[in-house]
Amino acid sequence: MPKDSTVLKLAKELIDIPSTSDKEGEKGVADYISDYLRSCGIESRTFEYRKGSANLVAEIGGKDRLMLNGHMDTVPVGDKKLWEHGLKAELLNGELYGRGASDMKGGIASILAAVSDIDFSKAANHGILLTFVADEEGKFTGSNWLLDNKKDIFNRVKYGIIAEPTDMRIQVAQKGIACMKISFHGKAAHSSAPQLGDSAILKAARFITALEELAKGFTVEDKILGRGTVNTGKIKGGTATNVVPDSCIINVDRRIVIGETPELAADQVKGLLRKMGINAEVKLYGASAFKLDKDSKIIEIMKRASGSKTYGAPWYTEAEIYKRKANIDCAVFGPGYSEAAHQANERVSVNNLEQCTEVFKRVITEWCSS
Ligand SMILES: [Zn+2]
Repeated sequence: MPKDSTVLKLAKELIDIPSTSDKEGEKGVADYISDYLRSCGIESRTFEYRKGSANLVAEIGGKDRLMLNGHMDTVPVGDKKLWEHGLKAELLNGELYGRGASDMKGGIASILAAVSDIDFSKAANHGILLTFVADEEGKFTGSNWLLDNKKDIFNRVKYGIIAEPTDMRIQVAQKGIACMKISFHGKAAHSSAPQLGDSAILKAARFITALEELAKGFTVEDKILGRGTVNTGKIKGGTATNVVPDSCIINVDRRIVIGETPELAADQVKGLLRKMGINAEVKLYGASAFKLDKDSKIIEIMKRASGSKTYGAPWYTEAEIYKRKANIDCAVFGPGYSEAAHQANERVSVNNLEQCTEVFKRVITEWCSS
């Protein structure tokens, strides 16, 4: 059997260290990466900012640094019965299966394999910054912690690459999110006399349908990102079959484009509730849509190194946080399949892993020798 390439070996080993942010934590992956970098002569620092959750940082070469970033956490494995392959890293027909294969241990493996192949002794002016972070699949506390507490690391960093799964395309724009928890209230009564109560579930149901209709009329449109969307992802209400429910809570995920804001999305929802005469509380958690300036140097760098096309994604990545908090232009580019993320039988193509490593090598070599 032929020997695994460096990137394949790294990807397999990373996949085999479970690292959901709320269960195992990312510390195991951080320790693995730290050991690997040390074996390549690169020192790194690990910040365990809360128990089990860690960020890893390595500053290599000159001070004008290009950031390469990846999140070390994954979503949970979920229902094991749905997995035919990949409960442990498994190679089959040129595809590597396992949780995190695409999102995004494959991306991290490509960064590490690229870095280990480069001689940084001449990178006097331009260097690279590696940031491997925690909790991207949760509440983004990893990147936020670094940006808030280790600001000096980012002082002279203007550009970055986040190796999320993009099918080897250059992601230059992404939608924002407006997540809303909406609480409906009613009045309990015996089910046999519903006219004496006031059903909170019924109110929520009417509202959900009306919201779907409202979404058909979203008019703000972005050239790359298209229009906003809405999805009611969760509903919880009532206490028993024979009781008119006095409370119901729904979670709405509204994706927004440039020209919309989370607050505007919340105002739309509140306006609709008012119009329907429904009293409900709306709690908002949001982040803006994000687009790189079309002249940003990072797009040019990525195009040259990969020959790939640019696109806008309907999902959110931490590129928005790095721009907002540190003014870093991040392109998102990685070997993973965007479609395979968060699914059972998650996989990544070995070909993509190897090609992505080459792309990152070209980018880093060009950057460090300029
Ligand atoms: Zn991801």
